Amino acid sequence: MERNYLLLTPGPLSTSETVRKAMLQDWCTWDKDYNEGIVTPIRHNLLELAGLDEEHYTTVLLQGSGTYCVEATLGAAVRPEDKLLILANGAYGKRMAQIADYYKLNYVLVSLEETELVTGEVARKALEANPGITHLSMVHSETTTGLLNPIEEVAEVIRGRGITFIVDAMSSFAGVPIDIRGLDIDFLISSANKCIQGVPGFGFIIAKKEQMLATQGNARSLSLDIYAQWETMEKGHGKWRFTSPTHVVRAFYQAMQELKEEGGIEARHSRYEENHRTLVDGMRALGFQTLLSDEKQGCIITSFLYPSANFNFPDFYNKLKTKGFVIYPGKISDADTFRIGNIGDVFPEDIKRLLQAIKEVM
Ligand SMILES: *Cc1c(COP(=O)(O)O)cnc(C)c1O
Repeated sequence: MERNYLLLTPGPLSTSETVRKAMLQDWCTWDKDYNEGIVTPIRHNLLELAGLDEEHYTTVLLQGSGTYCVEATLGAAVRPEDKLLILANGAYGKRMAQIADYYKLNYVLVSLEETELVTGEVARKALEANPGITHLSMVHSETTTGLLNPIEEVAEVIRGRGITFIVDAMSSFAGVPIDIRGLDIDFLISSANKCIQGVPGFGFIIAKKEQMLATQGNARSLSLDIYAQWETMEKGHGKWRFTSPTHVVRAFYQAMQELKEEGGIEARHSRYEENHRTLVDGMRALGFQTLLSDEKQGCIITSFLYPSANFNFPDFYNKLKTKGFVIYPGKISDADTFRIGNIGDVFPEDIKRLLQAIKEVM
């Protein structure tokens, strides 16, 4: 079936026709065709994709959007006697603090400007100023702006200090290489509808097995209890506790195969980089400026400043939509921006067509 439009958004994003077609069958949620044939292979493939062994690492899939998994992880990993440090530079970092408020967690939020990076230096100062931190959480690719935080630097700062490292890699996992073992990440969170290029409906958590086991009994929400969900998946060979999004899961299985066929994370990263490069070069040639300098910018999504004070974004958006492209509004408070995503079933030729369309509507 033909596309209604190409989504140039950070997810849900444009999926391949074969991923969408994979949803045309119904699956029995407790049958082994589904649990052993689809869910279990997905859990294996996620660890393989992350380069992790099954002895020390594990995964759990959870119904809902990505935020459900962030909430489930914070709600189960951080106990009342713990102290969480949240390093934020955008809406998704701040959302972790909102979650911490709901759960009445003992936490410290360090909130930077949206154009500043969460560096090792930021982490070091925050730890100095706040003794007794047991957990540190941050966002890798801050989709608010498109900035890519140097999690490697933060990992170095906390190495050997016994601090549990929680990374929201929602919009980067599988699109940007991440050395989960090397960085000693304890919990990494992502979802079906980002760089693996599936459709929305569930998220997943990759964790050190000992950390997953240690969450037993901690959750303060039944449906977001990652230990109970994990235990059911382990014992039931891929069984979910409650109704699972079967069609979405089947589509995800297909999306993972397509990622493998493309050449894995490195190959996908190269394509996203090329999309991003083509977009930025083309937009600059048309007179647009990026919000971020090139060193801070990741390849996932790019923020552009309005070209003039009287720029009419809704009109620009609608004209591009008529030409088959859906872009994204900006999400930051102190500059007028719009965003264009580089991820999904999107190729440099699509970006070239977009640039032509932008030239025509300007
Ligand atoms: C997409 C995204 C999320 C999750 O958002 P949902 O709307 O719940 O899917 C969380 N963090 C980041 C960085 C994201 O890009």
